[in-house]
Amino acid sequence: MELRASERQFELTFDDMRLPAEALVGDENAGLLQLFAGLNPERIMTAAFAIGMARYALARAVEYARERTVWRQPIGAHQAIAHPLAQSHIELELARLMMQKAAYLYDSGDDAAAGEAANMAKYAAGEACVKAVDQSVHTLGGNGLTREFGLASLITAARVSRIAPVSREMILNYVSHQTLGLPKSY
Ligand SMILES: Cc1cc2nc3c(=O)[nH]c(=O)nc-3n(C[C@H](O)[C@H](O)[C@H](O)COP(=O)(O)OP(=O)(O)OC[C@H]3O[C@@H](n4cnc5c(N)ncnc54)[C@H](O)[C@@H]3O)c2cc1C
Repeated sequence: MELRASERQFELTFDDMRLPAEALVGDENAGLLQLFAGLNPERIMTAAFAIGMARYALARAVEYARERTVWRQPIGAHQAIAHPLAQSHIELELARLMMQKAAYLYDSGDDAAAGEAANMAKYAAGEACVKAVDQSVHTLGGNGLTREFGLASLITAARVSRIAPVSREMILNYVSHQTLGLPKSY
């Protein structure tokens, strides 16, 4: 992965592997259900990760837009710079509300409602994050791509929140089928 992260990514495969009975995690014959139990918190966490990353990038861009002066004006005085940043701020706040709703539903034990909200939160956060990071990098001009300013590596990291742990298309499929009751394409 072209990501700066403390953990490494790798693929695990198990062929003809036998384990002793005491290695069983959770209940017998309920592996998939137990795996599924982790999906909602994983989506909520990914939404939080995306929102946090985007808020960081946006704060750096706002700081830069206040200080960087081209000719006589700080660039943040131009609406072409300011409005997309304001728009991203709004989108991140909206995604954050959805993420908090999903976390609340999950904590209150309403798994079905939490599932829908967690998917929506992950979708909204991923979209808002990709847009906010892109706009933040752009606000810094050439500096946006330098290592010193620390935003360029977020371009790849932001894309992760659109792809993993479930892609935005699969979330749109989920909402199409589960929420809107539309027929499945697969
Ligand atoms: C950094 C990172 C960490 C990860 N960590 C883990 C992990 O810890 N554990 C784990 O199990 N997995 C992990 N993943 C895998 C991740 O869950 C998958 O990458 C993700 O679910 C997308 O699946 P895929 O890569 O197989 O893409 P594919 O399913 O091959 O999809 C490719 C593209 O086609 C689109 N697509 C697929 N089907 C449809 C459809 N029916 N309709 C419309 N569009 C469709 C997708 O949205 C996507 O854009 C990780 C991935 C990344 C990037």
